[in-house]
Amino acid sequence: MDFREVSHTFQRLERTSERLEMISILSSLFRKATKDNIHMIVYLLQGRVAAPYTGIEIGMGEKMVEEAISRAFGVNRDEVERLYKELGDLGLVAEQLASSKKQMTLFSEPLTLERVYTNLYRIATLGGEGAQDTKIRLFVDILKDSEPLDARYIVRIPLGRLRLGVGDATVLEALSDALFGDRSYREILEQAYNYVSDLGRVAKMAMEKGLEGIKNVSPIVGIPIRPALAQRTESLEEILEKTGGECSAEAKYDGFRLQIHKKGDDIWIFSRRLENMTGMFPDIASAVREQIIPEEVIFEGEAIAYNENTGEFYPFQITIQRKRKYGVEKAAEEYPLKLFIFDVMYMDGKNLTSLPYQERRSILEKIYKKGDTIEPAERIIAKDVKTLQDFFESCVERGLEGIIAKDLKSPYIAGARKWAWIKYKRVMRSKLSDTLDLVIVGYYKGRGKRAQFGLGGILVAVYDPKDDTFKTVAKVGSGFTEEQLSELKRILDEISIPHKHPRVSSRIDVDVWVEPKYVITVLADEITRSPNHTAAWDGERGLALRFPRAVSFIREDKGPEDATTVDELIEMYKRQHREKVTEGEDNY
Ligand code: ATP
Repeated sequence: MDFREVSHTFQRLERTSERLEMISILSSLFRKATKDNIHMIVYLLQGRVAAPYTGIEIGMGEKMVEEAISRAFGVNRDEVERLYKELGDLGLVAEQLASSKKQMTLFSEPLTLERVYTNLYRIATLGGEGAQDTKIRLFVDILKDSEPLDARYIVRIPLGRLRLGVGDATVLEALSDALFGDRSYREILEQAYNYVSDLGRVAKMAMEKGLEGIKNVSPIVGIPIRPALAQRTESLEEILEKTGGECSAEAKYDGFRLQIHKKGDDIWIFSRRLENMTGMFPDIASAVREQIIPEEVIFEGEAIAYNENTGEFYPFQITIQRKRKYGVEKAAEEYPLKLFIFDVMYMDGKNLTSLPYQERRSILEKIYKKGDTIEPAERIIAKDVKTLQDFFESCVERGLEGIIAKDLKSPYIAGARKWAWIKYKRVMRSKLSDTLDLVIVGYYKGRGKRAQFGLGGILVAVYDPKDDTFKTVAKVGSGFTEEQLSELKRILDEISIPHKHPRVSSRIDVDVWVEPKYVITVLADEITRSPNHTAAWDGERGLALRFPRAVSFIREDKGPEDATTVDELIEMYKRQHREKVTEGEDNY
């Protein structure tokens, strides 16, 4: 196809702000396309050469493009820069230079869509030494044969300044119109798009396979599925209403959502935004090879950093460090991840998305072998509000975000936010502004990397002056340096005792009990209710700290009876709670 067809279409698109007109302009271009070039048009329309999930970006900076313009049109860089200042757009600069050159050289090779696309694709995928110069040469090659209007758009593409305002939905409607006669087949095309997240591929498949073929598109291993999304609610009653009185409630882990594809030993890991993150999760990839049974499978889960010592989850900020701060290897060692799998969409040639949740869940429970990293998301079946409420509270107490309720009968609805999934999160409460001074009553031996220190976390308590006891409120595993961990073990071993101290009230066990003697200062995000801790026990639950971390080493200036008291803890809980109280939750 002559590239002029494309650039004239771009110009018409640029001039309209009417969506219907846009669709008809695009549709006429698609009608002229073939199965071998339709994907090229679709990508170029969006200023790309491949689907976003591939990570293939043209990415030429302004300086490189200026250099190419200068070479293609035989003017010096200063002149290009002067024109850029004057016109404010390198696309217009190239257009102007192309038209003056035009008058001089009357005969040039007509530029085809295929040639433009191929060169841009090579530019996007070239790497290594000398790549920069080759990229400029490839760009010059297409620019020098451009008509003025071609040059305008060719220059805007690598700079990400095409801005035609053509969204996915518009492309799908125009494809429906061009290939199947009217716009009403958009949903069918969209369904295919939800499975393969690649508009260019959908366009090509639609042309090759026709309407019936496109209806049968199924997920493809190695290409991400657009994720199902959850509605939100503030009411547990609504969850039951929307799911027909019975649902599954799953723990909502606050980590990275990972969509994992496996084909033999090949693993792909995609983020919620469908970026390929395989390189960032070598530990998850090897766990998948070890623990996931089917030869070919696509499933989803949430990866979250986990403290092996205390059994608690780290806040999202820690999990995300893998992305921002640390080298991947170091992060994997320091903050091992758990992967809680929650759905399976494809297995050994079968598209599972149309099966009801219940069936997918039972398949999910069979695709894995027990191991260190991967396990199914914890879940219950609930028919009443109390069951949901209890499960929600037990999740929050363990440092999770809340629950996700799932309709037992619903298929996996790729790419859409439907009531098939409903999230119910803990209300965002103001963070605790104050620290607490807590008494160490026992410790956990280190596991994993912390084994070398012999101490991985401590159990801490508040003081209850009413009966002169220490009531537990948290396990603390973070906030200590490596030296402090070894030092703490040495100090605590001196006061270790074979049983729980009689003045300590605890519902949980530790590896080593100690005399309640030392106080440390702890900061937490929030105080929550918990069936595991005895502080402020009301017969069913006590109070616990969410995301506690030590902010001091042993306080020389405080004895155990100087620690924060139960009453002070209750007061802090109420203060934090006064802002937003979930009805009926506050019995104190
Ligand atoms: P959304 O993904 O709905 O646009 P968001 O990115 O802000 O919103 P949340 O509001 O936290 O995410 O809720 C949905 C997310 O919860 C999912 O995308 C997934 O990452 C996460 N999640 C955690 N546990 C589960 C689970 N058991 N089932 C499904 N999703 C879960």
